[in-house]
Amino acid sequence: LLLKNLVELDQKHFIHPTSSIQQQQQEGPAFIFEKGDGIYLTDTKGDTYIDAMSALWNVNIGHGRTELAEVAKDQMENLAFSSAFSTFSHEPAILLAEKIASIAPDSLNAVFFTSGGSESNDTSFKLARHYWKVKGEPKRRKIISRKKAYHGVAAASTSATGIPQFWDMAGTFTPDFVHAETPYEKSTAEAIDSMRQVIEQEGPETIAAFIAEPVQGAGGVIIPPNDYFQEIRKLCDEYDILFIADEIITGFGRTGEMFGVENWEVEPDLMTFAKGVTSGYLPFGGVIVSDEIHETLKEKSTGTLFHGFTYSGHPTASAVALKNIEIIENEKLRENARHMGERLLKGFQRIKADANIVGEVRTLGLLGAIELVKDPATNERFPADWKVAANAIQALYDQGVICRPVTFDSTDIICFAPPLIINEAQVDTLVARVHDAVLAVEKEIG
Ligand code: PLP
Repeated sequence: LLLKNLVELDQKHFIHPTSSIQQQQQEGPAFIFEKGDGIYLTDTKGDTYIDAMSALWNVNIGHGRTELAEVAKDQMENLAFSSAFSTFSHEPAILLAEKIASIAPDSLNAVFFTSGGSESNDTSFKLARHYWKVKGEPKRRKIISRKKAYHGVAAASTSATGIPQFWDMAGTFTPDFVHAETPYEKSTAEAIDSMRQVIEQEGPETIAAFIAEPVQGAGGVIIPPNDYFQEIRKLCDEYDILFIADEIITGFGRTGEMFGVENWEVEPDLMTFAKGVTSGYLPFGGVIVSDEIHETLKEKSTGTLFHGFTYSGHPTASAVALKNIEIIENEKLRENARHMGERLLKGFQRIKADANIVGEVRTLGLLGAIELVKDPATNERFPADWKVAANAIQALYDQGVICRPVTFDSTDIICFAPPLIINEAQVDTLVARVHDAVLAVEKEIG
């Protein structure tokens, strides 16, 4: 189809996720991609870009991996789909559950599969509440999450999300969700104090679980202080609150460890995952639970587990996930993420030294951020109507780099999450392009 026709059809029929319908109607899609290869995406105009976001933080092993296509083809020809409901099972999901149990922290050994991140988080809340019900404490229903958190857009995960714009859509906010401070521009002590206050205010006997992303992604790649999650674990233990780690972005090598919490040697009670488990080649996700929670699910008194999706443990997606994890391990992508992340940070620091509009720069593995500020000495922000981050994203497009802005709470943050297969030369090219884009924005601001 001609590009013009595709643009028109897109405008007419395609409701895009998290989009401004108005903008889409006026301008059409910014890109129509048709080919992916390694860290690169090529659009219908024939222009090639560095995909510095791994699409949506998920294409961990890079684009165009024929190994995954072959596994999917074989599995589809053999058994494309059969259900995992109740007493039905199949080999790919069994092997994947065993594999995930083997790479997860020691006490987490059983997996419930879903089709994506939002379903995984909603499932984790139901499992946490179910656990307390079985334990004879049905009043424990509340979920504490944090400001700036993103946990998805299903009913419960929307409420756990700490970005109020998401609640406004159709009044989705549901009861029993509360938000504490996150350690952004705050110390561990301040963030923990805020958590403690929320717990005391709500009543510890009403709280089922606390959920947190090890590194907040959509909130602006917020990397916590080193002691933060250990303090969180202590606080959860003190009040008997389950700790859910949302590893949907941070899982499967992204931060230089297989799972994000491993950076601080902390064991959660539940871990949710999606995205990187299949590197996005097929939609998939799940919740890994502790042995103690698994035991409560087996309790006869609870009867049937009335929870499950048609695609829980989808055989083809499971086979693809198994191959994807094998590639992450065999190609040492965790280690590569750590080393390339350190190189990326050095590059960001050079950009900061050359420019007058760069505030904090940070990376953990291949999750990174550059903050654009009016005055790096005082961290004074730009006025929101200058749309600095949006302009920077356009300047990055002009340089052939796909990135993502974070603009709420008057921040101008550019997020980075390139595929874990990126090599030194590619990191250097990415840094050079980001450098030129940042200086172009600075010049424009004057
Ligand atoms: N949790 C985190 C940390 C995420 O980044 C996302 C998606 O970006 C989700 C949950 C929701 O996942 P999904 O979009 O697959 O429902």
